[in-house]
Amino acid sequence: MANNQAALAGGSILVVGGGISGLTTTLEAAEVGYEVFLVEKNPYLGGRVSQLKQYFPKLCPPTCGLEINFRRIKDNPRIKVFTMAEIEKVDGAPGSYNVAIKLKPRYVNENCTCCGECAEACQTEISDEFNFGMNKIKAAYLPHNMAFPAKYVISPQIIGTDDAKRCLEACKYDAIDFDMKEKVINLNVGAVVWATGWEPYDASKIDNLGFGTYPNIITNMMLERLASTNGPTNGKILRPSDDKEPESIAFVQCAGSRDENHLPYCSYVCCMASLKHTTYIREQYPDAKIYIFYIDLRAPGQRYEKFYKKIKEDKNIFFIKGKVAEVSENTGTGDITVVAENAVTGEKIRQDVEMVVLATGMQPTAAGAKLPADLKYNEDGFIINDFEQGGMFAAGCANKPADVVSSNQNATGMALKAIQTLVRR
Ligand SMILES: Cc1cc2nc3c(=O)[nH]c(=O)nc-3n(C[C@H](O)[C@H](O)[C@H](O)COP(=O)(O)OP(=O)(O)OC[C@H]3O[C@@H](n4cnc5c(N)ncnc54)[C@H](O)[C@@H]3O)c2cc1C
Ligand code: SF4
Ligand code: SF4
Repeated sequence: MANNQAALAGGSILVVGGGISGLTTTLEAAEVGYEVFLVEKNPYLGGRVSQLKQYFPKLCPPTCGLEINFRRIKDNPRIKVFTMAEIEKVDGAPGSYNVAIKLKPRYVNENCTCCGECAEACQTEISDEFNFGMNKIKAAYLPHNMAFPAKYVISPQIIGTDDAKRCLEACKYDAIDFDMKEKVINLNVGAVVWATGWEPYDASKIDNLGFGTYPNIITNMMLERLASTNGPTNGKILRPSDDKEPESIAFVQCAGSRDENHLPYCSYVCCMASLKHTTYIREQYPDAKIYIFYIDLRAPGQRYEKFYKKIKEDKNIFFIKGKVAEVSENTGTGDITVVAENAVTGEKIRQDVEMVVLATGMQPTAAGAKLPADLKYNEDGFIINDFEQGGMFAAGCANKPADVVSSNQNATGMALKAIQTLVRR
């Protein structure tokens, strides 16, 4: 279908969340002729997938799927993207929703060439949220090296300071605009798809697993960043306390998931994520010992089962069926002792390792702050799809824990549901 064709009658679609699910819904709807507004709160699109080193089971880098989607978005005049944007209010009924979108200032306009001169000139440093605070970046920054849109961001922290002057002077392209203000825009759309995704469960809430107390205990998403070439260690997996190359690593599965005190449900992906993580470690450390403490290992479907079987062939990966009861730090070395009870033999295990990775699960983003719309949630904060009422739908991990393939399938289905709302209006 030609891109210059006018949008189909029946109104437009709002997609909230520019992760892999929101991108899929947007593209599926726009490429059959509908006008789509895509609203993303981060300064870039791609969501959590852009923080991964590789995807299972094929182990290709996230650029594989994301770059092609970004190109399709760029080429499609029916898609209007708002980054650094959040929904303030949605009122109305299927076929006609009034939406207020709040846009935060980026302080950088379309002229930005990503030359990086502003970052060079800026002296203030801020925590790098993309890398879970494991490093600092300048307050004038590109969120990550494959960010789309490829435009710098300036932190409001430096407004009115000498750093702001330095950045302005450094920019040869007239791309910095400190007069940008927060603003609200209003739209009318026929259907809304919420693709607001997930957050890693806050591991510091799990009292017995030592996260935040012992530096050599990290989360699975932190490991993704450590192993990524655009991460804080340029891709080298080093333990945080002393940058040592770890010779032994333990994974603690179901860290917070399947636990009535935390997330009562299975997060679906974290067994596969840890199996994938063993390949990251093996690539860099051929002899490292890897211990996986699990309650059940879930590798659903033929492809994932095959992946699991391949990992099991590695003689230096030890699978221990047992729930981890406690962890402690060996003062002086920074090593960690993991204590668990072997569920098969009943014996108590004490395993010393140099680093621990907590396989923390997914919590729906909407669990923290409910969205400003008339939506139904289950007890865990996932949005329930009310197909009878229609008009607003949840896609991907906003609806349930899912991998990329299932998120995409679900997001395609929700594009169709949104289109049906417009057609029936
Ligand atoms: C450790 C780990 C490793 C993983 N590895 C793999 C893997 O190898 N292969 C695989 O298939 N899956 C993997 N997954 C799962 C994968 O991350 C998810 O399937 C995927 O992120 C789902 O995409 P999503 O778009 O639904 O959510 P997200 O990726 O969370 O995207 C949601 C987007 O919505 C935005 N947003 C949230 N709230 C708002 C709001 N109010 N307004 C505007 N924007 C908002 C967010 O900023 C984000 O950009 C892994 C998960 C974990 C925990
Ligand atoms: S804002 Fe200006 S100086 Fe900074 S990266 Fe963009 S073009 Fe370069
Ligand atoms: S996917 Fe595995 S680690 Fe994650 S909650 Fe389910 S069983 Fe536990």
